[in-house]
Amino acid sequence: MGIATLHPTYDRMQSSPNYRGRFAPSPTGPLHFGSLVAAAGSYLAAKHHHGTWLVRIEDLDTPRTVPGVADDILRSLECFGLHSDEPILYQSQRTAAYEEALHSLQHSGMVYPCACSRKEIADSALHGIEGQIYPGTCRNGIYHPLVQGRQARSWRVRTKAEVMKIDDALQGRIAQSLEDEIGDFVVLRADGLFAYQLAVVVDDAFQGITHVVRGADLLASTPRQIYLQRLLGLVTPAYTHLPIAVNAQGEKLSKQTLASPVHIGKPVSTLLRVLAFLGQEPPAELAGYDLSTIWDWALANWDAGKLKGVRTSATD
Ligand code: GLU
Repeated sequence: MGIATLHPTYDRMQSSPNYRGRFAPSPTGPLHFGSLVAAAGSYLAAKHHHGTWLVRIEDLDTPRTVPGVADDILRSLECFGLHSDEPILYQSQRTAAYEEALHSLQHSGMVYPCACSRKEIADSALHGIEGQIYPGTCRNGIYHPLVQGRQARSWRVRTKAEVMKIDDALQGRIAQSLEDEIGDFVVLRADGLFAYQLAVVVDDAFQGITHVVRGADLLASTPRQIYLQRLLGLVTPAYTHLPIAVNAQGEKLSKQTLASPVHIGKPVSTLLRVLAFLGQEPPAELAGYDLSTIWDWALANWDAGKLKGVRTSATD
């Protein structure tokens, strides 16, 4: 008996308005194994719930965006049989929405202009979990002798000391004090670009995302995002942070660690490695089947509980 008969074909076209997931790559480098894990994990979770799965290109950070890479990522996803259920949203076309969100934060007094240079912050800042904690020089206006008479360079959100407690479906409860561990963070950068934290929150709400499934490297960003959702009166989705793929040196696969692009010429074996990484234990005989049969098996057998046993794995 073949795999397809063992596991009845799952209707991948069914969709439910109740679950909306997404994959939101930044086009800074080609799709690598780690990003494919996030794409496949978010896709399988959405389709397991008969939900909608979207792709959003996070091409806001123009200095880091590599021309042609967004199309390359989309082509690679297609080669793996991953298609967005709705037209692709490009953050570079969403500036008006981010401006509106910034105005709303300005109106409520929850953001302030900051005239400090990177060097000044580096000289006087404490270290938090993600780099420097802004020392608060401009928190009460651009009056401090260090910055007086200068133009604002960026806009920062006022954070609070209260500990935010967040329940991640996989990582469990995480607790973070934004003021003590992150500090007042930037929503409009000194180079005039909107920051990832603001854009992601505006777009998750705009696209009606109910479930965010992504790599655990973004776990520490989640309290900032939930904080912004609260300030902007937006709904908070459920979060699942997947284990991240690391290389033999234990580093996260990324453009910086020179992760190689996924093999689009061998989608079946790569997808089986992705499923194994996600703890789904695909049977070895699946290697002889086509991509669509593997997706059918993966959807019919998707078990989010098995993600709990996975930590990271040396792979590339
Ligand atoms: N664009 C982000 C990245 O590629 C991911 C954003 C998200 O999933 O929230 O790291």
